[in-house]
Amino acid sequence: MRATYTQTRWSLADLFSSHDSPEMKEAFADLESQVADFERRREQLAADISPGDFLAIVDELEQLTQLGYRIYGFASLYFSEDTQNQAAQTFLAQVEQFMASMQNRTLFFSLWWKELEEEPAGRLMAAAGEYRYWLEEMRHFKPHTLSEAEEKIINVKNVTGSSALSNLYDAMTNRYVFKLEVDGEVRELTRGEVMVYARHHDPDLRLRAYQELYRVYGDDGAILGQMYQTLVRDWRNEQVDLRRFSGPIAARNLMNDIPDQVVDTLLEVCKRNAPLFQRFFALKARWLGMERLRRYDIYAPVVKAEKKYPYDQAAQMVLDSFRDFDPRIADLAERVFSENHLDSQVRKGKRGGAFCSSLSPGLTPWVLLNYQGQANDVATMAHELGHAIHSMLASDHSLFTFHASLPLAETASTFGEMMLIDRLLADESDEHVRRDLLFRQMDDAYATIMRQAFFALFERQAHELTRQGAAVDDLAAAYQENLRDQLGETVEIGEEFKWEWVSISHIYQVPFYVYAYAFGQLLVLALYSQFKAEGEAFKPRYIKILAAGGSEAPVRVLAAAGIDVSQATFWQGGFDVLEDMLDQLEAIPVPTD
Ligand SMILES: [Zn+2]
Repeated sequence: MRATYTQTRWSLADLFSSHDSPEMKEAFADLESQVADFERRREQLAADISPGDFLAIVDELEQLTQLGYRIYGFASLYFSEDTQNQAAQTFLAQVEQFMASMQNRTLFFSLWWKELEEEPAGRLMAAAGEYRYWLEEMRHFKPHTLSEAEEKIINVKNVTGSSALSNLYDAMTNRYVFKLEVDGEVRELTRGEVMVYARHHDPDLRLRAYQELYRVYGDDGAILGQMYQTLVRDWRNEQVDLRRFSGPIAARNLMNDIPDQVVDTLLEVCKRNAPLFQRFFALKARWLGMERLRRYDIYAPVVKAEKKYPYDQAAQMVLDSFRDFDPRIADLAERVFSENHLDSQVRKGKRGGAFCSSLSPGLTPWVLLNYQGQANDVATMAHELGHAIHSMLASDHSLFTFHASLPLAETASTFGEMMLIDRLLADESDEHVRRDLLFRQMDDAYATIMRQAFFALFERQAHELTRQGAAVDDLAAAYQENLRDQLGETVEIGEEFKWEWVSISHIYQVPFYVYAYAFGQLLVLALYSQFKAEGEAFKPRYIKILAAGGSEAPVRVLAAAGIDVSQATFWQGGFDVLEDMLDQLEAIPVPTD
């Protein structure tokens, strides 16, 4: 019999029953004592340590880190359920403080490891099996690591410095209320709710939704911008001045283990393809019966009625599309539902957007959605479940190697979306719905590739401008220019969009994270075209990429599947798939009346 899916709040019981339960207190005490045991290992660390002793120490570190992730995972998920809940806020702050002190006490291991000479390090890595890439990757940071005392100061000061600013940004912006008149009645909306109107069929409502969105952010623009610049300076002070990275983005590139040149090539190819989406927006204007598209209309639906998908139907469609590809993948996704690890409700104070949190190889990941029934929400469901599948497929690896690094982290999620869209296109006989789906795919490609690449280009510029002493208003002006480069003459851009960047939490919390979306999506387009060409033969190669998790450098994982990401032509291949799609759309006659 087929299961029925209903929108619920998730259960965190697989972690802890509550933040003040006896088990939680026990876990704190347990972690404390494991850390104390680990500290006693310190004197064993020497260049001539036997591989057996060395691996025993790494095992212990994995065990205690796992416990730390459980505690921290609970605290952050509990906070996400309701960011205005003071008990959750306090508990998260307390856990962060505790974790920082535990990290400080175990820091000696990675510092010792990073300082070790090549010869003994090579000998130990050769015997390290599953831990090899993790150990290798840590040593990448050897030239960028400070003394133990300095590292400790950075950790302690981050709690009340960049992490505190980041949490404050969350707390400030998550409580914003947006007022919008809908059907003659002024409503108070969350950001997620107001964004539904930004994608509404009524052009006036779209305009008012966007203007209200950036009125609220813009009112705080000076202070949010100042918070951003503080984080940018902190990033530069630490990554460039103290750790000696060649530039702000280089630190993220090494964290991703992607060569700088590959990222430059990716961003360059994206920039070069901006006219492709300008062409798309010109087409969209014709469908909407507009002379020229406004920025408000970028995500406008080309039809008058938005098809809504009840939650149960959405869950079935997503799981069916996964099952079509491989039943094992559908079974994994199903576990997220059946173990009640999915929070799909919309509630005030709940964290906006969506995410998937994979805490350890043995634990089914937790997924947060704000499901409202739009086709977009269904795609988001496929996306986040894709993340869950990725980490579950990689669960044979250690805690240190099962997470794919950022650029590959979006592979299964985006591929999951493609499988869903393909299924929808195949099932749909109505030509109008097919056309809408193609539009939607282009919309999504815009949002995940071009938009994110231009965010990354803006970040690069904002970091540089801030170094040169630019003010918040200068960044806002630079952002407007960035939008103009991206959208060209095809799209008219309202003045208020100069505040868009202060509403993008990624650029605050994980500098340069956003290019990973462009990387992931373009990569998937290329992979998907291979799947179309090769059929069944492609599947084992794909599963192999996912199952590798973070056990090898992304570039090597991909090379093993026959993909060379250092070539501009590879990335251009992704855009060519999109151009095909656009050609198909342009071939459909635009109704005139
Ligand atoms: Zn994602």
